[in-house]
Amino acid sequence: MTMDFPRSWTDPDLDLWRDTCARFIETELEPDDAASRERGHVGHAVWRRAGELGLLCADIPEQYGGGGGDFRHEAVFYEECARRGLSGMATSVHSIVAHYFLNHGTEDQKQRYLPRLARGELVGAIAMTEPGAGSDLQGIRTKAELRDGHYVLNGTKTFITNGFLAGVILVVCKTDPTQGARGTSILIVETEGCEGFRVGRVLDKMGMKAQDTSELFFDEVRVPAAQLLGGKEGQGFFQLMSDLPYERLIIGVSALANMEGAYRATLDYVRERQVFGKPLIEIQNTRFKLAEVATQIKVGRAFIDRCVHDLVAGTLDTATASMAKLWGSETQCRVLDECLQLFGGYGYMNEYPIARMYADARVQRIYGGTSEIMKEVISRQL
Ligand SMILES: Cc1cc2nc3c(=O)[nH]c(=O)nc-3n(C[C@H](O)[C@H](O)[C@H](O)COP(=O)(O)OP(=O)(O)OC[C@H]3O[C@@H](n4cnc5c(N)ncnc54)[C@H](O)[C@@H]3O)c2cc1C
Repeated sequence: MTMDFPRSWTDPDLDLWRDTCARFIETELEPDDAASRERGHVGHAVWRRAGELGLLCADIPEQYGGGGGDFRHEAVFYEECARRGLSGMATSVHSIVAHYFLNHGTEDQKQRYLPRLARGELVGAIAMTEPGAGSDLQGIRTKAELRDGHYVLNGTKTFITNGFLAGVILVVCKTDPTQGARGTSILIVETEGCEGFRVGRVLDKMGMKAQDTSELFFDEVRVPAAQLLGGKEGQGFFQLMSDLPYERLIIGVSALANMEGAYRATLDYVRERQVFGKPLIEIQNTRFKLAEVATQIKVGRAFIDRCVHDLVAGTLDTATASMAKLWGSETQCRVLDECLQLFGGYGYMNEYPIARMYADARVQRIYGGTSEIMKEVISRQL
């Protein structure tokens, strides 16, 4: 019997959907991954291809051009990428952006942006972090001032996923710097032909080389007042907070699928690799390490699956989603480290997926709220 990790939330339709996602990933994403890592981004064509195949915005209602599914459809795509160690296409951030429109946008904003996001015509990004403010979002300095029916936007953002490819960016800014959280709003910025907007460097990261992460500059950018998300000033923090369970569970789901992929790759390797005249798997330490990894995955599967059920039911709270993010990312890093060790020197070579998975995993403890911030959030509920 081989160790399997079945999901409690799947069904025959989702299994078919998984096949569709896997086919796209294997035929469109995987062959271009090495070139994407060189370039620092996956390019626009693959986004449009994913849109044509109906793979984007799977959990957005059909009336807005989405797939009409739920979070499980999204989860399947993240899992199929994560288990292969393919991190180039940040559909997670794209979907998060779509959810800001769905949950907080005006009807007009939903109709204007959701179909284009679903078709992959626009890639979505969300710009919160600044050089001087990451965990402490209240410290952001990007400012939007209302003048003659336009917001005039000034500021600098950094570490923005999809920043280079983005056609639409949700920019978190201060509309009233005297008001703290209540003075924060989100502006919708279309990047094409946008005067005063500039993408800086595509940042050179230790991992996730195919995923674009950029600096963004806004210099007297004029944004029509109608581009305020939800149409009402001062809602930015509320909007950010209410979508946290969705965002954090994405990281938990992909962390666990990545552990499964690493486990399987390691199992294959240790069965083949000969040491001291026998396969590496016959050494007790190897079997014990993999037994520990398999146990972590199986136990984690029960918790993450429960979170998926709860999110779909609309009952997943922020503290529990933060536990999924915290546990998932911390365990992922430990598991990847143990798996890589079993590859010996080959594990350190970038041509082996395990090396890339290891480097990719590290940021999971940092973005989407650091592990320390997750502990802050969880501890408030003690
Ligand atoms: C690859 C990548 C992609 C990203 N994508 C995006 C994106 O798309 N959009 C976006 O807006 N941002 C993005 N980020 C930014 C990311 O969310 C921030 O880096 C993260 O929130 C941490 O902020 P910081 O880097 O400013 O670190 P800081 O906030 O300066 O934290 C430094 C250290 O202090 C700790 N710390 C801070 N406050 C506390 C506290 N109260 N208690 C205990 N410890 C604390 C932190 O945990 C951390 O260990 C991305 C980052 C990376 C690396």
